[in-house]
Amino acid sequence: MTVSRIRTEIDFSADGKQVGWAHLPHSVHESAYGVIAIPLAVIRNGEGPTILLMAGNHGDEYEGQVALAKLIRRLEPGQIRGRVIILPAANFPAAMAGKRTSPIDQGNLNRTFPGDPRGTPTWMLSHWIETVLMEMADIVVDLHSGGSSLDYIPICMTRRFEDAAVTEACVAAVQAFGARYAVLMDLIGEDRTTFAAATRTRNRIVVGTEMAGKGTVGIEALEIAETGVQRLLQHFGIWQGAPLVAMPTEPPTLLEVKGVEHYVYAPDAGVFESFVDLGARVVAGQPAGQVHFIDDPMRPPALAHFRGAGLVVCKRLPGRVVRGDCVFHLASEV
Ligand code: CA
Repeated sequence: MTVSRIRTEIDFSADGKQVGWAHLPHSVHESAYGVIAIPLAVIRNGEGPTILLMAGNHGDEYEGQVALAKLIRRLEPGQIRGRVIILPAANFPAAMAGKRTSPIDQGNLNRTFPGDPRGTPTWMLSHWIETVLMEMADIVVDLHSGGSSLDYIPICMTRRFEDAAVTEACVAAVQAFGARYAVLMDLIGEDRTTFAAATRTRNRIVVGTEMAGKGTVGIEALEIAETGVQRLLQHFGIWQGAPLVAMPTEPPTLLEVKGVEHYVYAPDAGVFESFVDLGARVVAGQPAGQVHFIDDPMRPPALAHFRGAGLVVCKRLPGRVVRGDCVFHLASEV
């Protein structure tokens, strides 16, 4: 595999707390020998597990970015054993723009794995994350929220591996995170382009989240992100000393997101009126909402229906839609 061109002064094998940047070569008209400086922290204390904590995979999902910046300021080597690698704004150009995708190459980081060391910045980033950071980690955590266009009930996500023991460790990890709901993603029909999919060949314990969104920093979602990450440090024995946060006693409800039957798309362009809210339980065939044609008031609205049964975990925010916008997605009990 070709070596990444992203460089950092941080020594991943050194004990102590190092906070700096990874430098992505970006030679442009305004800066001939320029680099994009991506914040990176490594806190290590001797032998032990390595956890990779990542946020800002999508730049407009803020709770994880804030939670990890707080953790960088607070965490000290004496509090841990092993290694904590923190990448708080993974697609840094997108995070600085407050956008899902990079303004440089329009790249959606979570659709570019396994990336390309000779590609544009987003592709270089996913290649570096997979071949350098994920390679070093035993546990990988990717904090998402709904972003600008979606709202989510707080859920954790992990995935099934061919190795049942890894799957079991993943389920234990999402339970430790403290999620009320945990989505177990399947290998079948998997999109190789996501961060979670990149764990496939490496058998890494993977924890993802979807928390609130709306392009804001939600109070509850931020709390879930902060306490969840702390619980993971405690669960994996990385955190030393007295627990900061009580561990959950109830297991999460395991959910699965099925294929197309769990998604509802706008059937036409217009203004979408929802009939249900987040957290609602719906049945197949139930009306989900309707698109209104504001320019033609006598035209009857176009109805959209749920195609499957389940819990409404995700809902689109903006009222204006075009045909093909996802307006809801469901999950159902495993
Ligand atoms: Ca996301």
